[in-house]
Amino acid sequence: MAFEGLTERLQKAMTNLRRKGKVSESDLRDTMREIRLALLEADVNFTVVKDFVKTVRERALGAKVLEGLNPAQQIVKIVNEELTKTMGETAVPLNKSPKIPTVIMMAGLQGAGKTTTVGKLALKLKNEQNARPLMIAADVYRPAAIQQLQQVGQQIGVPVFEMGTDVDPVEIVRQGMAEAEANHNDYVFIDTAGRLQIDEQLMTELANIKDLVHPDEILLVIDAMTGQNAVNTAEGFDQKLDVTGVVLTKLDGDTRGGAALSIRAVTGKPIKFVGQGEKMTDLDVFHPDRMADRILG
Ligand code: GDP
Repeated sequence: MAFEGLTERLQKAMTNLRRKGKVSESDLRDTMREIRLALLEADVNFTVVKDFVKTVRERALGAKVLEGLNPAQQIVKIVNEELTKTMGETAVPLNKSPKIPTVIMMAGLQGAGKTTTVGKLALKLKNEQNARPLMIAADVYRPAAIQQLQQVGQQIGVPVFEMGTDVDPVEIVRQGMAEAEANHNDYVFIDTAGRLQIDEQLMTELANIKDLVHPDEILLVIDAMTGQNAVNTAEGFDQKLDVTGVVLTKLDGDTRGGAALSIRAVTGKPIKFVGQGEKMTDLDVFHPDRMADRILG
């Protein structure tokens, strides 16, 4: 289960604190050390951990929590609030263009869950807004990618624009956009290629697609299971593409939590959705406060 180790360790730190009744500065220091280790072990970015611990400690001391009633409870509350803040405070909705179509470009490493997420998001918009999306298959390097998107399209009843694997992806996107205009599609999803790691050629291709269509949303799809690497990947993509949001996938797996807790703080970009399974309906809006509750258990 996701966050299992982190939740267990944070709860233990809080239980130890609650046992004290009165909390001294040295007790607070011990608690903050336990929290620090718990976060580092969950693969949270070092700087994020440092800032987090410092803020919680300063707030606890500044508010004279230790001299007040129920200091342990107050500290739990501060930890919860700061976890929420670290993850971005509030849910951030999908950008929407004032005139149709809203263009959503996906980016991410191979296997992160781009194609799956395109389908999940298109279905969500279809169900919730009666939207009429078009999905453009612009991953020409992995032959099975187009087929996979077509299967997803069939499953959710959303059309796919494709031109096979012999056409330049930028040209595919250009023609796909024309098709969307002609059909008055209100959303266009661009499923782009990924690689096993960031490379220059891929980034140039993505930048060219971006320059052509000026997407309303560039969603970076990140596999939550990849911990610190997820954060490095996010930074790499963001530097080149200036993404507008992140989708964190595979949160149904046993991720330790590092990516969920680090990405916003490191990149400044909001996590907008989380993937929590392989089914087309397994996509949820990311709510930092609910995630903090879940992490604290
Ligand atoms: P892409 O290469 O980035 O397009 O990745 P895919 O969409 O092909 O996904 C790679 C694998 O991850 C597939 O087997 C998906 O079913 C799986 N996957 C994607 N999102 C999730 C998720 O949220 N949870 C789980 N458990 N699996 C996922």
